[in-house]
Amino acid sequence: MKQSRRNSLLRMTIQLLLLISLLLLSTMISFAIGSPDGSDHRLTIDGNLIQTSVPPYIENDRSLVPARAVFEAIGANVTWSPSDPNHVGISYANTQVSLTLNSPIAYVNGEEKKLDVPARLHNNSTMIPVRFVSESLSFGVGYDVDQRIIQLTSPKVEPIYGSVSKVSYEDLQYFYRVEIDATEPIKIYQDSTLADPNRYILDLTGFTLDASINEKLVPSDETNNEVFSAIRSSQFTPDTVRVVVDLKDKQTGAITLSPDEKNIYIDFSKPYIDNNNDTSDPIEIPSDPINPVNKKPANLNEVLIVIDPGHGGNDPGAQGKSNGAVILNEKDINLDVATRLNEKLQAAGLNTIMSRNGDHSASPNSKNALEDRIYRSNWANSENATLFVSIHNNSAGNVTSATGTETFYNETEGKAAYGISSKELAASVQKKMTAYLGTRNRGVKNGSELSVLRRTEMPAILMEGAFLSNPDDLQLMLTDTFRENYANAVSEAIIEYLNEMYQN
Ligand SMILES: [Zn+2]
Repeated sequence: MKQSRRNSLLRMTIQLLLLISLLLLSTMISFAIGSPDGSDHRLTIDGNLIQTSVPPYIENDRSLVPARAVFEAIGANVTWSPSDPNHVGISYANTQVSLTLNSPIAYVNGEEKKLDVPARLHNNSTMIPVRFVSESLSFGVGYDVDQRIIQLTSPKVEPIYGSVSKVSYEDLQYFYRVEIDATEPIKIYQDSTLADPNRYILDLTGFTLDASINEKLVPSDETNNEVFSAIRSSQFTPDTVRVVVDLKDKQTGAITLSPDEKNIYIDFSKPYIDNNNDTSDPIEIPSDPINPVNKKPANLNEVLIVIDPGHGGNDPGAQGKSNGAVILNEKDINLDVATRLNEKLQAAGLNTIMSRNGDHSASPNSKNALEDRIYRSNWANSENATLFVSIHNNSAGNVTSATGTETFYNETEGKAAYGISSKELAASVQKKMTAYLGTRNRGVKNGSELSVLRRTEMPAILMEGAFLSNPDDLQLMLTDTFRENYANAVSEAIIEYLNEMYQN
């Protein structure tokens, strides 16, 4: 009895031991050989047990872990795009990971990486192979076979380095400058552009975003700003600050750093404005005499107006295109408007001369467009003209959003000798043009640096009617109405101004 009891106890113990070792063996086998075993593995990251809605599992010798749980545990940002539900984006520190469900290819910082098994959806969770986490993302991996635990160690992340203390912008003559100020030198940064909608993105690694920073900076001239609609700043990942410039047209920013590298400047070009402004223009402008000789004509009959149709001949000026083909050259519409203006001013009894009256340069000897513009000014001076009126239309190159009308004037003290304020005349012309043409008012601008205005001794104005680079403006410019209104606006403004000047 005792014997048999002992025997049976022994038998039970042996059976239990066998059972335990079988269980252990099966656990080991499931790790080593593997079978889709489902639900009872656990996951630790840096020693902390991670709660996962879908536990890690092993299939065909591969361990799979839930992507979101792994990455969120290390503070990474995991994104699913509703438009592309098969795509998973992960970013942390300075690492960007892009995964596609059921694809054996992933991208880590743009570099192609092979997965031993594709990422897949399992009970609504994206599962990724541990091997990918280890080899491509530099996590450490260990297995606790007894406890059925997959142990991940997060990659070493550079410690936070400084903070971004200010994000601002400046409205400069030819560009907008976005400035980012940091408390420490900016060593790691990466920029990129995205389309639909157009954005420029700059990531600064090793920084946190100061709490004082406005997350969305809207420019004060938002509706008239042709370059950007907002500057957004965020803590993109725990150690990366992301600045996004919402652009109106596609362009990339030009980056410069301050000498101490604590300030980064990103310049965004304003739309290119026609091609009258030549920084290569070599001649110095003579300074105006302090006591100008009175050159104001004694009466209206002695007033001489130069009408200057911009460009001509080999210089087409701006070009309006449709489906890649040129459908309008600026030189042609300029001449048409100038011819109409000439008729209207002459009909009012004023004396006029035109710098060109056909499709050619103003001077037969000009070697290039700049020389020809210089010639026009010198010629107007030699004719002792009272007023110089240059007819142009605009272009912003590939930027299609720029639209509207603007008027430039030259103004130095010497011009006072003529009794005409080109600035006042420009304002009157601009007002009538935007009213008659129905175009956006881009304002009256000092154009003293424009090559065609800088040498003219008499008051001078230059109109930019509308943009050949803007599809809507271009359609308007093809119409007779637009050209007639352009000429009417300028002639009426000039006639009113001169009548007021000479009414007494
Ligand atoms: Zn022009």
